[in-house]
Amino acid sequence: MARRKKVSKYVELFDETIKNLEGKPKILIQACCAPCSSAVLELLADKFEIVLFFNGHNIYPYAEYEKRLNEVKRLVDIARADFNATIELIVINPQIEQYNDKLAFGADQKEGGTRCAACYGMRLKETLDFAVEKKIEYVTTVMTISRQKCSKKINKTAENLMPHYPQLNYVYSDFKKRHGNTRSTQLCKEYDLYQQQYCGCSYSLNEYYQRINDKIV
Ligand code: SF4
Repeated sequence: MARRKKVSKYVELFDETIKNLEGKPKILIQACCAPCSSAVLELLADKFEIVLFFNGHNIYPYAEYEKRLNEVKRLVDIARADFNATIELIVINPQIEQYNDKLAFGADQKEGGTRCAACYGMRLKETLDFAVEKKIEYVTTVMTISRQKCSKKINKTAENLMPHYPQLNYVYSDFKKRHGNTRSTQLCKEYDLYQQQYCGCSYSLNEYYQRINDKIV
């Protein structure tokens, strides 16, 4: 008999939340690029009224920030037209230099270490604070769709923050599961979305340059 694949805890929690939804509530979704947002918006468009929260302080340099933001704006129009999404975009004034300085303790780390854990925490906390201010009950992030990011670490970060936000309902997720990542690749192709070559911060940009150099040498 074929063995059934074990479903991740966060996929089960996601299913549970969706099953118990009443009507189509508002959700605040943290995002910092169009490729990761695409399949998540498509998935959630018929379940929630979406407020997409672009807090891309991590994206260095500013020209890259602008490029990614413009693609997110284009994606929001696509989501309205093609996913039938009710969607609003909130853009937080970027503090790129200050934000990158805060992560300098992990300048030499590869992506995925404590620098990234701090980065998830800061951006999620800002999202949760905004949700409280605007009285938006449901909150999530698109970050768990990224192949480069550990969904467990992102969800654990949210778990650690949530005791401070009893009025909110965090939607735990593992959006890369159930072919979420493949779907985002398809949508990137279909809509010709700009796909960045590094995660965002100046340290990940250095890591990218290093990879290129290693290939050349
Ligand atoms: S690599 Fe990405 S997640 Fe990690 S610190 Fe840099 S911007 Fe944040």
